[in-house]
Amino acid sequence: MISYSTALGIIKNEFVKKHLQTEEVDLLESYNRILAEDVVADVDLPPFDNSAMDGYAIKFSERKQWNIIGEISAGNYSSFTLTKNDAVLITTGSKLPINADTVIPIEDVEVNENKLHSKPNVFIKKGMNIRKQGNDLRKKEVAVHRFTKIDAKTISVLASCGKEKIKVYSKLKAAVFATGDELIPINEKPTGDKLRVSNVYSLYAAMEEMNQTVINLGFTKDDKEIITQKVKAALDLDIDLLITTGGVSVGKYDFLKDVFEQQGVEEKFWKVNIKPGKPVYFGVYEKDERKILVFGLPGNPVSSLVNSYVFIKPAIDFLLHQTEIKKITATLQNDLKKRDKKRHFSRGILFEENGEWKVTSEFSQSSGNLVEMSKANCLIEIEEDKRNPAKGDIVECIMI
Ligand code: AMP
Ligand code: MG
Repeated sequence: MISYSTALGIIKNEFVKKHLQTEEVDLLESYNRILAEDVVADVDLPPFDNSAMDGYAIKFSERKQWNIIGEISAGNYSSFTLTKNDAVLITTGSKLPINADTVIPIEDVEVNENKLHSKPNVFIKKGMNIRKQGNDLRKKEVAVHRFTKIDAKTISVLASCGKEKIKVYSKLKAAVFATGDELIPINEKPTGDKLRVSNVYSLYAAMEEMNQTVINLGFTKDDKEIITQKVKAALDLDIDLLITTGGVSVGKYDFLKDVFEQQGVEEKFWKVNIKPGKPVYFGVYEKDERKILVFGLPGNPVSSLVNSYVFIKPAIDFLLHQTEIKKITATLQNDLKKRDKKRHFSRGILFEENGEWKVTSEFSQSSGNLVEMSKANCLIEIEEDKRNPAKGDIVECIMI
């Protein structure tokens, strides 16, 4: 059985071989997409010298008194040429009059008719409250780099560069289906030994959380022939990832591994030394120019979702040059049982108290307990060598 880091390394290695497609989207449709081009400023930013404050523009000297000769508001420039005797009323963002090099804030002056005085003890420094043309960025410099994830901060820079449309990486397409004789649709009431197919929903949402597209292929019975047809049809689709759940362990009716092999999927690994989610399978299906990366996840709802957080998400982030999973170091608030040499991803609740990160994990760690998992906001990552982490220990938490 391989270790978590070896397994993740294998997955990343297959992800980076994927050829990323690009597409053009409207800027307003680009939130959370990954930029596929360096965007260059087509003008200086800011495009002209302007005032950072509401106040009076002057030509700096030792004077404390000026004649107000006019006003300029943002977007309503009129041409004035200042001597050191003159001041022009100016609003934030307004283009500066000729010769102006300093803006005195409105709070620091007194106005009498058209005479302006600085208040006593007000210090005036040459150049203050001026935003120089090109100070933020010069024309032709890179404003936003390729592989930037577009958010409210970056989108305004792209807008300032006049980018109505931008090139972004196309989303990966995933298909998800579940297997299990016990499964029924969620609009039916479970009777006897049946169970609603919850997994497909969590994995579907997990792919959406990762900003990728996903198709729901439903679920099938644990019947080798039916599963074969399902896998065949899925591998025929125009997809990048195939994610299945259930039937990948060592049970009598666990057929997925065999079926993948028979359909030409090359196994890269099966079983990883982790908890939960040990029976995870990963393989690659080569098809024409395109590769389909195949994840056979265990059926336990917690296991499959944890697998998606610790294998699929970091691999997609790696492919798209996004920073690795964000981890927060926190103090454990209760003892945890861990006697084995697996890497554990225990569900936890991370919170801040008195400026310190703390994490509790006082609920069921059963891999079947989706209700407990739904309350968690992090996975506490406990390395192979660590035994029975105790209250007060410092642990790493992966936000989920
Ligand atoms: P398996 O990996 O097929 O051995 O399934 C492990 C456990 O997960 C069993 O208790 C199943 O009933 C449960 N399970 C399997 N598939 C699903 C699913 N799609 N949704 C919810 N639970 C499932
Ligand atoms: Mg099963």
